[in-house]
This record gives sequence, C-alpha cells and structure tokens, in this order.
Amino acid sequence: MDPAERRARLDALQQEAAGCTRCRLAEGRTQVVFGVGDPNADLMFVGEAPGFHEDKQGFPFVGQAGRLLDRLLEGIGLSRAEVYIANVIKCRPPGNRDPVPDEIEACEPYLFRQIELIEPRVVATLGNFATKLLSGKQLGITRVHGQEQAVTLGGRQVLLYPLYHPAAALYTPSMLAVLEEDFARLPALLGGEAGSASPDTEPEPAPELVAAVPAEPAVQLDLF
Ligand code: URA
Repeated sequence: MDPAERRARLDALQQEAAGCTRCRLAEGRTQVVFGVGDPNADLMFVGEAPGFHEDKQGFPFVGQAGRLLDRLLEGIGLSRAEVYIANVIKCRPPGNRDPVPDEIEACEPYLFRQIELIEPRVVATLGNFATKLLSGKQLGITRVHGQEQAVTLGGRQVLLYPLYHPAAALYTPSMLAVLEEDFARLPALLGGEAGSASPDTEPEPAPELVAAVPAEPAVQLDLF
C-alpha cells in the first residue's frame, strides 16, 4: 500500500476508535490509546492495555515500562518513531485490572485492522496477554519468549516474536537480562535493516535501566 494511503487509513481508524463505546471501558477512560509510531514500520510492538499514564497522555508505553522500552529500542539502534507501538486493549481497565473476555472481543478488531494496515514484518508481543492472543496458543511467555514463529495476521504471514513485558522486567533483573538478549535478535529478524545497529550490538547495561525510572502506579498483571 502507498505510504500516504496507509497513514490516511490508519488515521481514519484512529478517529473511529476515539469515539468507541463497544465495551464498558469507555466509561472510565480519559481517552482511547490507539497507537503511536510509523504506520509504515517493519516492526510493531503489541502490549496489553494502557495504564495510568497512557490513559492520561493518550499514547502507549509512556510510563515506567515505556521508558524501558525506549532504552531497549535505543540499544538496537531504533527509536520509537521508527516502529509502531500499540496495545491489544485501547482503553485503561479500571485500577489496571486484567481485561475480561468481552472487552478483548470488542477491542481486538482494532488491533487486527492496525496490523492489516501497517503490514509489519515482525510483530513483537510484550508479555503473556498479547502473546497468547496473537499466537492463538495458551503457552506462557516463559516458555515461548525469544522464539519467533510464523503466524497469519491481518491476512498475511508475519513473524511473531514474543518478549517479556517490560513492566515485569523492571522488577526482575534476570528477566531484564533475558529481555535484552531477546531484543538484540530483533535486527537480525528484520533482515538487518533495522536502524544502524548490527545484529550483535550489545544492549544497554541492565542496572541503569532499573535505576533510572521513578516509581508509578502498578501496571497490568499476568505479565509472565
Ligand atoms: N503496559 C502495557 O501493556 N501497555 C502500555 O501501554 C503500558 C503499560
């Protein structure tokens, strides 16, 4: 698809989602958190649902976990502007509770349409929730992280690449180390064309990532 047309269609979908009342989460949200980044990106990240800061600011992954995601991206020579970031659920569940099945059912068409329009080559799922939904399997993230698998999404084959959720890695240094290792494989999965980093680029050191971020309300559960 022509890049301008892709952008226009994604904008139209965002406009539609902005007024969404398909489920009860519409009542408690400040705004719909649709997605952010390059509509023509080869790499798309999919998280769970907006948290406190995302709901206030209108963009995914702008809190503590988002800052870690930014640093991980930087470690492979990419910026947030060069990828696309979205969540399965577009509105904040009250108190960051887990989304329930009818909310997922109501919201997932937006995500599938985003994937269809963006046509990413690699979809990196962040945590259990997005991984189970997009793989269609119940295998947990501890079992499948770092293992790419070909799946059909939005009518095309994409490489699904499950990663630990950055919010979980924030509090578990060993998990952060694994997340960094898995992240370091992304340029190779993208065919070595992602940013300027080579596939064997060392990720950013872990301890600073943990230390650099101030506390904020807890994010979603079920991350492992
Ligand atoms: N956790 C998510 O899964 N998504 C966000 O946007 C923020 C935190």
